[in-house]
Formats: sequence, C-alpha cells, structure tokens
Amino acid sequence: MNSLFQQLPSIDKLLKQPEIASLIAEFGRSAVVKICRSLLENARSEIKNTQKIPHFFHDNATLIAEIQRQLQAQQQVKIQPVHNLTGTVLHTNLGRALWANAAQQAALLAMQENVALEYDLAEGKRSHRDNYISELLCELTGAEAACVVNNNAAAVLLMLTTFAVGKEVVISRGELIEIGGSFRIPDIMQQAGCKLAEVGTTNRTHLADYRRAINENTAFLMKVHSSNYQICGFTHSVSEAELAQLGKEMNVPVMTDLGSGALVDLSQYGLPAEPTVQEKWQLGVDLISFSGDKLLGGPQAGIIVGKKYFIDQLQSHPLKRALRCDKVILAGLEATLRLYLQPEKLAEKLTSLHLLTQPVSALRQQAEILKARLENQLNFAYTIRVEESQAQIGSGAQPLAKIPSVAVTLEEKNSQKLTALIQRFKQLPQPIIGRVEQNKLWLDLRSLANFERLLNNLEQL
Ligand SMILES: *Cc1c(COP(=O)(O)O)cnc(C)c1O
Repeated sequence: MNSLFQQLPSIDKLLKQPEIASLIAEFGRSAVVKICRSLLENARSEIKNTQKIPHFFHDNATLIAEIQRQLQAQQQVKIQPVHNLTGTVLHTNLGRALWANAAQQAALLAMQENVALEYDLAEGKRSHRDNYISELLCELTGAEAACVVNNNAAAVLLMLTTFAVGKEVVISRGELIEIGGSFRIPDIMQQAGCKLAEVGTTNRTHLADYRRAINENTAFLMKVHSSNYQICGFTHSVSEAELAQLGKEMNVPVMTDLGSGALVDLSQYGLPAEPTVQEKWQLGVDLISFSGDKLLGGPQAGIIVGKKYFIDQLQSHPLKRALRCDKVILAGLEATLRLYLQPEKLAEKLTSLHLLTQPVSALRQQAEILKARLENQLNFAYTIRVEESQAQIGSGAQPLAKIPSVAVTLEEKNSQKLTALIQRFKQLPQPIIGRVEQNKLWLDLRSLANFERLLNNLEQL
C-alpha cells in the first residue's frame, strides 16, 4: 500500500507541470489547486479502501484530462435548457412561458446597456419604473393604473399588507385554495397579518353570505380564481359583478386574484376560454392581480391593475420597494405587452400562444419525422407509435381542458426497460422530458419549442 501512496505526485510537483500551468493560465490558480488537492485526497482514500490507485492517476494525460474536465464542469450552468415534451405548455417546473423574440431583445439590451428605467427622457427628470408598463396595461385592459411586482404571490401579499393588516378579508370557503409550492391563500393572509372571514361552504356561497360578513373592520372582499381545480355538481358562487355591486353599496373594495390573467379571449383561437383581465375590470372590480409568465406569455412578474386610488397606495407602501422587478424583467414585460397592441399578429409572435395554436396537422408531421428518427436510432428496440394526445395549457389555466395534440409514444419491448430509456433521454446534451402514462413514454409535440434542435440533439442518443 505504501508503494501505491508513493506513486501519487505531490501537489507541488503536480502544479509545476507545463500542462497544469496552461490550465492555471486559463482557469486561474485557486480553482486548479483545489481540484488537484481533491483528486489527491480521493486517490489516497481509494488506495486505503481498495488497495488500488484510481484510473486517473495511471498516466499523466488521463490526469490532465480529468482536471480539465472538472474545471469545465464547474462552469456548466445547471439551470440548463431541456426539451419540453410533457404536453404541458406552461410548465412551472420547466420555467413556464418562453419569452417572445421581442422580449428577449429588450431584455438583452437592458442587461448590456444603461436604460431609461426611472428616467423620463422627454421631461429630463426622474420617473417611476412601472410607468411605461402601467400606461400599456391601462390601454390594454381599460384599468386606471397598474403596479408590477416579482410574481403574483407577491402581488397578493402586497394587496393584503397594504389594505388589510389587522382587518378582515371576506372570502368564500370554496376559494381558500393552495396553488402549489405551498402558496395557500389562508397562510398568506396570516403572513400578512389579516383575519380571514370565511363565508359560505365549499360548494355553495351566496351574495347574502358576503353581506352578512361585512362589518366595520372589513378591509375588502376577495375573489380567487379557482385556477388549478374545479368544483362540479351542486355549486354556486358569487360573480365579480355581484360582489362589485355589493362592495359599492357597502363601501368596501373588491379584489380578485385572477391567477393566469389572459389579456385576449382564447376562444377565438379555438382554445378553452379563460376569463380576461379587461372583462373582470368591466365588472367593476377595484383591483385585479395576475401572473406575467402564465397565459400572458412574458417574464415572471405579478401584475396588479385597477383603480388609481388603490394602486397609488400599493405603489407607496414600503413593501412594494422590496417586491419590485428589475430592469431586465420590466424591459421583457414591456416588450411582451407591446405585442398585444397588434392582436392579429399575437399568435405568431407570442411564443406560448404560438405553441398553443399550432395546428394538429403540423404536430403530426413532426411526430412522423421524430418516430422514424427514434426507430432508427434506437434500433427498433422499443415499440414506437404516433398517437393522438391531450396536451394542456398548464400553470393552472383551465386544468380540466385538454388541447388536441400528437405524441410519439415509446413502449417496452422484450427486456428493453422504459426507465433506462427515460434516463438516456435525460442524459442528452439538452435533456428530453416527456411524460409517462399507460406504461408508455409520451413525447408530446404541443409543448416543444424547437423541433430542429431536438432532432440535432438526438444524434447524441
Ligand atoms: C399561479 C397563481 C398564483 C401564483 O402566481 P405566481 O406568479 O406563480 O406567484 C396565485 N393565485 C392564483 C389564482 C394562481 O393561479
């Protein structure tokens, strides 16, 4: 064993090698030293445990290659691109909406250059970072003003904190929801220091229930869009219009957490209809909150639109400062919203809407190409078919609505295991993520952003 230990070079000797010197020139001394030390340490413990010298100390070239590999791996970003073939277009775990081209350009410029973020070029004086977006949102939704924060959860927190600390918020028991990632409406109320005034029952809530709950300590009436579930059967809920009427009568504001926040009527594209922001505003609601990276198709953000009187209070609350968005997000969001000014071009330019509206025939064409490619590359070791599939919007929009789609399905044949194949797909330079259903792996083309890149990537399988 001692002789094995003696075969290991000393750290000083290692660092003096010319190949290592050039690695130091490229990556810096401290990273190289750290990796050399850890390789030597590993080698010592391997000798102790197995009485063998590890393979990367067998010869110098292997050792250098290993050090170089580790140095490069250190710089590999782990939040790496994947191919989304899950069939869920706005997949929260895969980063939700892809940015439109215009949004990417605007964001890139905001990263590289100084921008007129809080500076009014016309007046030559300081302005507010939400101004441009607020103007756009007012034009698009009809609302009086807007406020932008980090995400919709933050938007709800800001509304509660600004208006309801130590007060009561009236909400239906049917809307005390959990959105996922432990965002629960009752918890966020508690966090904000508000008292929950639950009314009605899980399946039925009436206007009279709200009316009875209102007292001098009521901050506002709240509606939460049941985005990720549906209550069916013997049900009744109170519409925003009725609530707004009641709010006006009793002088209590009404807020609605819309979740997805569509700005266009999706049914015009043959997609399941989601309530739009402008339609809620027209019903007389005072404040509406929604996400930037769900159906809106932009960056992660929480947007609140509504009456100027209330938005002004949100803007001047100290918490707004802690929840505000940075310039890159705001530039991306502004560019995304500008696309909505030209609605006929939206399905072409807004990436998420483009994906959702692709004709099934185009997906089928891609599926046939993908099937042939996979058969070839997997040597017919799996049963591969092109099948009709049901995709979904995702991120809580219309959870029960299925969107017609096409998938390539892969099924085990003989001893070829599906789990092994899933693993191989995940180990590609750009991993492929599908969904497993009925003992098959489904590669659903509805949610795939870049077909050409997928094909190129498959060459590495
Ligand atoms: C998604 C959702 C949220 C959370 O939005 P984020 O932007 O992810 O913070 C809040 N409320 C509803 C109703 C939602 O659907």
